[in-house]
Amino acid sequence: MRMHPAASAPQRITTLAGGIGGARFLRGLIAAAPEAEITVIGNTGDDIWIHGLRVCPDLDTVMYTLGGGISEERGWGREDETFTVKSELADYGVEPSWFGLGDRDIATHLVRTQMLNAGYPLSAVTEALCTRWQPGVRLIPMTDERAETHVVVDHPEGGRRAIHFQEWWVRYQAQLTAHAIVLVGADDAKPAPGVIEAIEGADVVVLPPSNPVVSIGTILQVPGIRESLRRTPAPVVGVSPIVGGRPVRGMADACLSAIGVDTTAAAVAAHYGSRRDETGILDGWLVDESDAGDVPQVASLGIACEARPLLMSDPTTTTAIAAAALDLAARTAAP
Ligand code: GDP
Ligand code: CA
Repeated sequence: MRMHPAASAPQRITTLAGGIGGARFLRGLIAAAPEAEITVIGNTGDDIWIHGLRVCPDLDTVMYTLGGGISEERGWGREDETFTVKSELADYGVEPSWFGLGDRDIATHLVRTQMLNAGYPLSAVTEALCTRWQPGVRLIPMTDERAETHVVVDHPEGGRRAIHFQEWWVRYQAQLTAHAIVLVGADDAKPAPGVIEAIEGADVVVLPPSNPVVSIGTILQVPGIRESLRRTPAPVVGVSPIVGGRPVRGMADACLSAIGVDTTAAAVAAHYGSRRDETGILDGWLVDESDAGDVPQVASLGIACEARPLLMSDPTTTTAIAAAALDLAARTAAP
């Protein structure tokens, strides 16, 4: 029997990630490639100032999930959390009251805010926070600059307005029709130190099943990142967050509608595009078994496509999804 040479296992894997979908996939990726050096480029478009604290929800979800501090039940924030500070703030009647900052979680935001105020860039702050959590990956924010996602809605108080993504997502549960989703500050943002090197120096680039608009889409808007994904000699493969025509969790369908993309695995692949085309970023794409009918359509775009079970229902299945992505990458040549 022919053994697979160990040398064929990717040594350097780079991923782009949002929050829950990204973090859960990363657990599987670490298990599937325990020897690999994994770099995670995190979405910071969700970041927000709350009560004077700088909150980076997606970076923290990745850090807590991989570091063993996440609330498994909620999927965000800390385990064994209490909300005393939140209720005290509510008693003062201060807004925003719709954003849940837990007491344990607040310590993270205090450290971050203090370091930012002292002049450290977010990438250095994130590295410092990770020395406590030891997530087993190198976590880099997409940018050190402030660039936050805003959503243009017909506001309940009248008029068309742009509100912060968190207000739309958390306060309004994405129930207000989004007319546009804009990363405010994108034009002036630069990739954080190490981002471009991680993409262009990777053996494989993997897009986890993160939200294609407000997680991966945001990262792709930082000038230079899309170009480096197109330039990297590594194959770029993605995992569909849309299963059976629906997001598995969250309201990605509302985000996709806002940018005129159908909520199907094939439409998301077409939106990312093939690297053989002018602006595309994908060489390979995994769809769920229930979306096997989408495979020919994706393949016709010049993207290698396979159907696999894509529900991250338990660690074994999640590891198998990550292994399938690496396997597809190994059989997919960069253009
Ligand atoms: P967020 O920042 O916390 O919203 O998380 P991400 O952007 O990283 O991931 C959100 C996406 O993960 C959603 O669009 C979901 O459809 C997707 N997702 C969640 N669980 C699963 C799963 O088990 N399988 C797949 N394929 N996608 C999932
Ligand atoms: Ca997010």
